[in-house]
Amino acid sequence: MDQIKIGKFIAWKRKEQNLTQAQLAEKLGITDRAVSKWETGKSLPDASIMLEMCALLGITVNDLLCGEVVSMENYNEQMENSLIEMIKQKERADKKLLTMEIVIGLTSSIFLFAMLAVGIIFMTLEKPIWAFILPVGIGFVQFIICMAFALRIEQVAGYYECRKCGHRYVPSYKAVSLAMHTGRMRYMKCPKCGKKSWQKKVISDINPEI
Ligand SMILES: [Zn+2]
Repeated sequence: MDQIKIGKFIAWKRKEQNLTQAQLAEKLGITDRAVSKWETGKSLPDASIMLEMCALLGITVNDLLCGEVVSMENYNEQMENSLIEMIKQKERADKKLLTMEIVIGLTSSIFLFAMLAVGIIFMTLEKPIWAFILPVGIGFVQFIICMAFALRIEQVAGYYECRKCGHRYVPSYKAVSLAMHTGRMRYMKCPKCGKKSWQKKVISDINPEI
């Protein structure tokens, strides 16, 4: 997706409707800074206001994502390209998130062990008991917070694939946190076939084998 092209297109269509950035922003209930960011290609409108904005500018969402008015002739083709591009963007973002999860997990574990070491050293130096409890407590609290966050990433980034029927889906946070796991494989119940299996993490929701 070409954000610069989309930005210029938004600016052009806004002017065509005789709207200033501030007027368009007001109609959408957002700041004019947000509109300016779209028009300079720094960001895209949120999906939540995309429809309303397109209606105001007299364009379709497909026009918006292509950065031009799409003729009816190649409408389907362009629509598919836009969709594929959006899916690719999600996949790239998910991959980044999953890398971030590893970084969070590692940093947090190292910090936990460091705090345990500090606590043990203090204990051997016969310091008061809080000199042990405090670092160990801090270590565990940050570890639990980071793990909850990492688990959230694992739930929302990408999909899980059922071993039995090949169905790919996003499980609930509860299902992910309660499931047995080794690495990223989780033992969960498939919402489609209802069977339990060791499900692997995948980036795309389309299973090429089914
Ligand atoms: Zn299944």
